[in-house]
Amino acid sequence: MSTTTTHSNRTQTTIAWGPVIWIGVLHALALLAFVPAYFSWSALAVCVFLHWLTGGIGICMTYHRLLTHRSFVTRPRWLEYVLTAIGCCASEGGAIGWVSDHRRHHAHSDEEDDVHSPNRGFGWAHMFWWMTPDITSDHTPEYYAKWAPDLNKDPVHRWLDKYHFIFPISMAVALYVIGGMMGNAMAWLVWGAFVRSILVLHTTWLVNSATHIWGYRSHETRDSSTNLWWVALLTYGEGWHNNHHAYQTSARHGLRWWEVDMTYIAIRLMSFVGLAHTIKLPKIHQSRPSSHLPSHADNDRQSDADNYRQSDASELAVAAK
Ligand SMILES: [Zn+2]
Ligand SMILES: [Zn+2]
Repeated sequence: MSTTTTHSNRTQTTIAWGPVIWIGVLHALALLAFVPAYFSWSALAVCVFLHWLTGGIGICMTYHRLLTHRSFVTRPRWLEYVLTAIGCCASEGGAIGWVSDHRRHHAHSDEEDDVHSPNRGFGWAHMFWWMTPDITSDHTPEYYAKWAPDLNKDPVHRWLDKYHFIFPISMAVALYVIGGMMGNAMAWLVWGAFVRSILVLHTTWLVNSATHIWGYRSHETRDSSTNLWWVALLTYGEGWHNNHHAYQTSARHGLRWWEVDMTYIAIRLMSFVGLAHTIKLPKIHQSRPSSHLPSHADNDRQSDADNYRQSDASELAVAAK
């Protein structure tokens, strides 16, 4: 089913029925949280933990910093696949599609070809963009090959992308079974799967909407990206989005001492135990006090996906090997 739009270069949009139904059902099922019998403190703890695991580790660290921007490398290599499977549990689709959309966002930030341009309103940038994508955003083989050629040639990543839905469903089943053994089957299912998924989705979407509208700017990037503390707290550091647009391949997004970046802490902990290496950081962060950050962007505009397979030697430094 399709409809028309008045946007100049978007002659036709489609309704993404699969994701719309899936996420719509998740929203409806999350309302079961208002049933007192489905609440337990252990289920709430599971909800908070899985929000961090699937949203913080799965999406922010893996889908975004590892796969999209290649800001560090995992050791062993197959750990990347395990982390990607965790990202699949967030119900944000497969990694190749996610990475393609996000690389396109960076290449055309706040322009007409930006998949979730804030210039079309908060609602569009937040969630309507994936509900009614324009035809140029279809996740076709050509789209994948253009925006994520590195992932698209990896058969394991292609399998994970194609069958991503297996993982959130399996996690929901596991929560029901394990919760049942704890005497809280429905509570664990409702809070660990439904409520947690909705919270992960909306907090992640805030990075596309809120941090292109509200907040402060440390760098004069060619887009409207902002740093917003409360989004950064909800997204484990992703809310330092203006810093990120200025230094896209940096593994660290919170650059001032008080810009708390839980995802970067997780990456450093992984490095400490030997699971992550070749961590990229802005050179400026290594050589100057964080209170004197420059008001310029280094690589805030990428022309194509090939750039993401190359190191940003001119502006970024490898912090750890
Ligand atoms: Zn952005
Ligand atoms: Zn990014």
